[in-house]
Amino acid sequence: MPASRKRFDLNRHVAKLLQCRRCPRMQSTPVSGGAIVSDVMLIGQAPGPREPVLRRPFAHTAGKTLFRWFEEFCGMNEATVRSTIYFAAVCRCFPGKNSSSGDRVPAPNEIRNCSSWMGKEIAILRPHLIIPVGRLAILQFVDCGKLEKVIGRKFRVERAGHHFDVIPLPHPSGASPWHKIAPGKRLLERALKLIARHPAMKDLAGR
Ligand code: SF4
Repeated sequence: MPASRKRFDLNRHVAKLLQCRRCPRMQSTPVSGGAIVSDVMLIGQAPGPREPVLRRPFAHTAGKTLFRWFEEFCGMNEATVRSTIYFAAVCRCFPGKNSSSGDRVPAPNEIRNCSSWMGKEIAILRPHLIIPVGRLAILQFVDCGKLEKVIGRKFRVERAGHHFDVIPLPHPSGASPWHKIAPGKRLLERALKLIARHPAMKDLAGR
């Protein structure tokens, strides 16, 4: 499909997504990173309370860590990452807080509701690489009993007849130390090197 057609379809898709109100328990309207036509998609879990206000995904502390990883390993700063990678998420709205003041994990019906948006994005973009960030996002593509089994590896996945690579990352939130201590630290580095070497990322970074 020509890039102009993808751009047209994606613009229309994002405009519709922003109007979505399917899930009554969600505490915000949808957050989008914009209609970025790309061969690479990054899939987050769900926005926190700051993202709907700042109107972009990974806008707060977890984002700072995520963008530092990309800068360090792929040589791409935050502005470049945001303007060249399509940002999606398992759920696009802030789910609200849980009883222990963390963010509520989206319910299965909310994940189901939102999956059609991601399915459509994959159908429009036909990406070469998908980077799911955090267990909930990884689970949408590969079985993820333990992060140790999937971080640092590349998977070939098929959706509706389209094949693409999946390289999972752990969630960069400060809430979990997994990526800062062994073996997570080493596996994270391996995953980031795999991402940096992927042809679709090299194209984006002009390497
Ligand atoms: S979480 Fe997804 S499906 Fe649910 S209201 Fe938000 S955008 Fe719509």
